[in-house]
Amino acid sequence: MDARDRLRRYLEQRRELGESEFLLDTLTVDEALARLAGALSPSRNPASSVDRLSAAGAVQDPPPVRAPLVPPPDVAPRSGGPVTAGVGADWRTALAGRGPQDPSGDAWPAWMAPLGLERGVIRGAPVLSPEVAALSALGDVVEAVAACTGCALHRSARNPVPGTGHPQAELMCIGEAPGADEDAAGEPFVGEAGKLLTKILAAINLSRDAVFIANVLKHRPPGNRDPSPDEMQACLPFLWRQVALVRPRVILALGRISAQAITGSAQGIGALRGRVHLLMGIPVVATYHPAALLRNEAWKRPTWEDVQVAQRLLVAARAHDARAAGGA
Ligand code: SF4
Repeated sequence: MDARDRLRRYLEQRRELGESEFLLDTLTVDEALARLAGALSPSRNPASSVDRLSAAGAVQDPPPVRAPLVPPPDVAPRSGGPVTAGVGADWRTALAGRGPQDPSGDAWPAWMAPLGLERGVIRGAPVLSPEVAALSALGDVVEAVAACTGCALHRSARNPVPGTGHPQAELMCIGEAPGADEDAAGEPFVGEAGKLLTKILAAINLSRDAVFIANVLKHRPPGNRDPSPDEMQACLPFLWRQVALVRPRVILALGRISAQAITGSAQGIGALRGRVHLLMGIPVVATYHPAALLRNEAWKRPTWEDVQVAQRLLVAARAHDARAAGGA
């Protein structure tokens, strides 16, 4: 790995942690990446380490500069008040029939209290178009994604990657967007990051077949760049519908973009993990993306802690269901 790759990885890791300020020569992360890309004039700080790397010929073939993520307008954090629209006409009924989830979507389940977990963002049901709300089965979502022209990504992608897994999974894993391997296969998490996700799931006694895995975006952004706000706004309704149809007990948000999209928060993954959020009454645990773990082994321990929280939630939800069934 050359100096350019090492520096790029370091910068991307800092940004993944939600840090916009950079400690090297007073540059921000984006400014440093822009300089790596040769997109900014070096006049601001000609003696910076980045410039020295460039001058030494170590900085070549720069990566694309990513735009900062802004939460799309239809997924603003819930600030209280009644749920005014759903992710499909049947979602309240569906959630009400699945144990511990609060069908109103805006109240913490009582069964979570003994776990003593810090609480984060509460989100009710995002507004959907009548067409997406009418998708009554996961297969309908697959067909709708395959036919979607809601953003330009369908033109450059090889295959749609709508998501796959158990239709009544207890755990739903949500990543960011398909990468090259997923684009080729039409399935999420099939590359090295996917193998690591499989190991993570196995560590809490879940097979991939037992969970449902999807991404925020259903088509690959060129060059694996971050999704744009417009792309997320266009694509998220499919994810909301999948969540309502699968009705998992727990959602595991993998990576900053997934966590931000689900919570509607602009905070980095470092701030969003360590708390339990609520989406449509379903507990959400945010953690690092498996691809980030491949870049930084130091994040494996906090990821394991997050996954254990998800496991505790699953166990508590199952116990609640068992008690409810016993008392019925
Ligand atoms: S990424 Fe989402 S919104 Fe864009 S074309 Fe694909 S399915 Fe449609």
